[in-house]
Amino acid sequence: MRYISTRGQAPALNFEDVLLAGLASDGGLYVPENLPRFTQEEIASWAGLPYHELAFRVMRPFVSGSIPDADFKKILEETYAAGSGGVFAHSAVAPLRQLNSNEWVLELFHGPTLAFKDFALQLLGRLLDYVLAKRNERVVIMGATSGDTGSAAIEGCKACDNVDIFILHPHNRVSEVQRRQMTTILGENIHNIAVEGNFDDCQEMVKDSFADQSFLKGTRLVAVNSINWARIMAQIVYYFHAALQLGGPARSIAFSVPTGNFGDIFAGYLARNMGLPISQLIVATNRNDILHRFMSGNQYVKDTLHPTLSPSMDIMVSSNFERLLFDLHGRNGAAIAELMATFKQGGGFSVEEDRWTEARKLFDSLAVDDQATCETIAEVFEESGELLDPHTAIGVRAARECRRSLATPMVILGTAHPVKFPEAVEQAGVGQSPALPPHLADLFEREERCTVLANDLKTVQGFVTQHGNRGKPL
Ligand SMILES: *Cc1c(COP(=O)(O)O)cnc(C)c1O
Repeated sequence: MRYISTRGQAPALNFEDVLLAGLASDGGLYVPENLPRFTQEEIASWAGLPYHELAFRVMRPFVSGSIPDADFKKILEETYAAGSGGVFAHSAVAPLRQLNSNEWVLELFHGPTLAFKDFALQLLGRLLDYVLAKRNERVVIMGATSGDTGSAAIEGCKACDNVDIFILHPHNRVSEVQRRQMTTILGENIHNIAVEGNFDDCQEMVKDSFADQSFLKGTRLVAVNSINWARIMAQIVYYFHAALQLGGPARSIAFSVPTGNFGDIFAGYLARNMGLPISQLIVATNRNDILHRFMSGNQYVKDTLHPTLSPSMDIMVSSNFERLLFDLHGRNGAAIAELMATFKQGGGFSVEEDRWTEARKLFDSLAVDDQATCETIAEVFEESGELLDPHTAIGVRAARECRRSLATPMVILGTAHPVKFPEAVEQAGVGQSPALPPHLADLFEREERCTVLANDLKTVQGFVTQHGNRGKPL
């Protein structure tokens, strides 16, 4: 499989190189040159497969030419096999829970950090280790986090022999659960940096480090945010998994996806283009609604950032949206480069009417504010006794308001466990936040390791240079 850039100027890469690449050299994002397409019979024959075996069938075309089948199978078994000692705490890995008639939550929060990002980052860590061992190469990972990404990346890479990981978070500005999920994972290749600044400062430093990597003395820098193709790829699998449980592919399915950077929902769009009959995809955002404004009114325009009860979707710009725009423009890289240049200069844009209409055949959207989020948490708790996290609640609200057909099963992606977001649960007035699951029960007693650094690029880069080789200088 070859991968091409959404801006048309960067060289095509194979899977191995795309795994290690961040942005393409032309500023674009990598996408498969040709998407695999499965027949209905083929998909139907996968019914009942354990998650890791389904994952092999869905993802195999994407890694072909880079990872032999036997090795890929082994990696997937380590990542997704259920049972004691497995990474995911539920024997179904991604169980479906019925909320209402023909309405289901796909629980993607049974991984080590209790959010769906584990599905992608557990695999990404193992893929990196495999590829780097083969090449006899070491890399440095740098990422900025306001919460979920950092812990999932650290959990995913902690066992990687050839990776040193540096995660920047804004000092005193992430929740205690989220901080401890990062800082209590100890290892000589794991470095938590609390920056005396805000999340944007952290993100800016990571961006600047990608732009000029001389401080790494030749070591490659790898991205773990959702621009990394392997993360999107891993997320395609659970759309197939859910549909097969609910009568697919003989029957169509609708999905509602709480989204910020358009990563998770883009995976659903790809699943559909690979042959899965998905009849509707709902973009569910919080007040940071750039995607909703595009889907409802064909305006892609930056707004200011509003902090909400669903912080993992607090974004101003949606990085993966470019991948959809590329398809909507007939995969014309020059057109995308032009749109993105306009956007960068501060201008928003609309796309031509027929392109927007094409997108609207599949996508609907809703922006849900904090009050409606809390109302939905309370409503669902009253109906069924299920406690939702605020991100999932936004997905449920959007599903209920935007649903096209009651006869089509509606699946809401459950992106996080409610214990991660006690504030929203309390505001919803449904009582105490639930207890931490067994593997995190002693989280508040564990030793933490973290370095507080000034909000200064040279200071942070100097720290990376000093510790980038298993705690020793690069
Ligand atoms: C990251 C995250 C999201 C948003 O995912 P995208 O891929 O950016 O759309 C939603 N919910 C939770 C809990 C998250 O951690």
